[in-house]
Amino acid sequence: MMINSSLKQLGEMLQAKTISSVELTQSFLTRISQYNPSINAYISLDEAKTLAQAKAADARIAAGDVTPLTGIPIAQKDIFCAKGWRTTCGSKMLANFIAPYDAHVISQFDAVGAVNLGKTNMDEFAMGSSNETSYFGGVKNPWSFDRVPGGSSGGSAAAVAARLCAAATGTDTGGSIRQPASLCGLTGLKPTYGVVSRFGMIAFASSLDQAGPMAKSAEDCALMMNVMAGFDERDSTSLNRAKEDYTKDLNKPLAGLKVGLPKEFFAEGLDASVGKVIETAIEEYKKLGAEIVEISLPNTGLSIPVYYVLAPAEASSNLSRYDGVRYGHRAAEYTDLMDMYNKSRAEGFGAEVKRRILIGTYVLSAGYYDAYYLKAQQIRRLIAQDFTEAFKKCDVIMGPAAPSTAFKAGEKVDDPVAMYLQDIYTISTNLAGLPGMSVPAGFAQSDDGKALPVGLQIIGNYFDEARMLNVAHQYQQVTDWHVQAPDLSQLPDLNQSEGVA
Ligand code: GLN
Repeated sequence: MMINSSLKQLGEMLQAKTISSVELTQSFLTRISQYNPSINAYISLDEAKTLAQAKAADARIAAGDVTPLTGIPIAQKDIFCAKGWRTTCGSKMLANFIAPYDAHVISQFDAVGAVNLGKTNMDEFAMGSSNETSYFGGVKNPWSFDRVPGGSSGGSAAAVAARLCAAATGTDTGGSIRQPASLCGLTGLKPTYGVVSRFGMIAFASSLDQAGPMAKSAEDCALMMNVMAGFDERDSTSLNRAKEDYTKDLNKPLAGLKVGLPKEFFAEGLDASVGKVIETAIEEYKKLGAEIVEISLPNTGLSIPVYYVLAPAEASSNLSRYDGVRYGHRAAEYTDLMDMYNKSRAEGFGAEVKRRILIGTYVLSAGYYDAYYLKAQQIRRLIAQDFTEAFKKCDVIMGPAAPSTAFKAGEKVDDPVAMYLQDIYTISTNLAGLPGMSVPAGFAQSDDGKALPVGLQIIGNYFDEARMLNVAHQYQQVTDWHVQAPDLSQLPDLNQSEGVA
């Protein structure tokens, strides 16, 4: 079945001309029109633009000008500016914003002839863990329709899981690729900070934001990374490193691999059913020849408070640009300039974004800067040092990606702290700038009898993405969690479209 094929298989079919990009793209568009009205994974679709790209890809293939992803339909998180596309970042503030230029990530996919299938739903300005802060409405988890897909890249996650695209992009500031990948049964990778350019990616917390792939398998992620990674002088934090082939180590055996298990990742707060799945996955790694070492990341408990000082501080600064003057929402009625700023921002931002701006402004204010912002920066360094020490004892670190499986929509919306705890195992990686991934490791039974996906997290040392992908790929050679797809036959309310243009 085409929709379940890997990127490699799709590439081979396209190159052998057993299918055309137009046919492949059309089959995804048909599925989207059938299922998206109830899943709500996409905010914006533009069939004419998408099919024009597919046609151009077919011409390239006919001319023999192919790369592995030429002609393959990819969904793009709506945080990436794409020229001529509405780019909302999940916010009313940008609900009518048509991007005048391409993000680096978008132009990289365009350059290899991949097809942009549409812009995916997300938490507003990437702030959230359930996709419920989106101005365009929540997203259904394809594995259980009354549950959230995770966030903030919830639309991308649901789109890949429901086979409404071949693969998707996401961004991860504190866990937004790995947590939704875990909750939707996908393979997702947040690269080392600076490996993928942030140019044209709408900023949330610039020292933490990093884009990465969300796909079915590690091999698919490697192919996506080959397109996404690379130096870009337009992002001052983009790292000038030699181009790397992320597929190069996929087939290496794992004998002798040292896997560190941080005791803090298996302590209180982890759902027992998730812990069991992770333990079984570790057993599988032992069979593959891995050696297990116990490690400690003593400052793990401080990562959430540190993040919720630093990320809002950076967000409060980044979001000051939305003032109703140049672009974005402007209030219809106001008395003077100050009133225009106030009303435009009050109307354009949702509650969670406002909460972050208030926290960020507070911790950066003259009277509290030393007590909060500066202190958090100091602890950030200690968290990074924990990892430096740990990597003296092991090659990769493993643990859960999220403390629970997908929770019910509405369950945590009124309790920000419970929501923030979703990222307890992912946030420290962002604070340290390290790469991390989530890999499907099995299913845990919910109270109401649903089998829900569980993600194993793999954390690597700086620039060790190729090794992490190898570690994930070898596991995917002996397990089949990553090829399982949800059953969509029970989807209710088909064609009750909401928020899709
Ligand atoms: N859930 C975290 C937050 O709400 C992380 C989001 C992200 O990685 N973009 O900020």
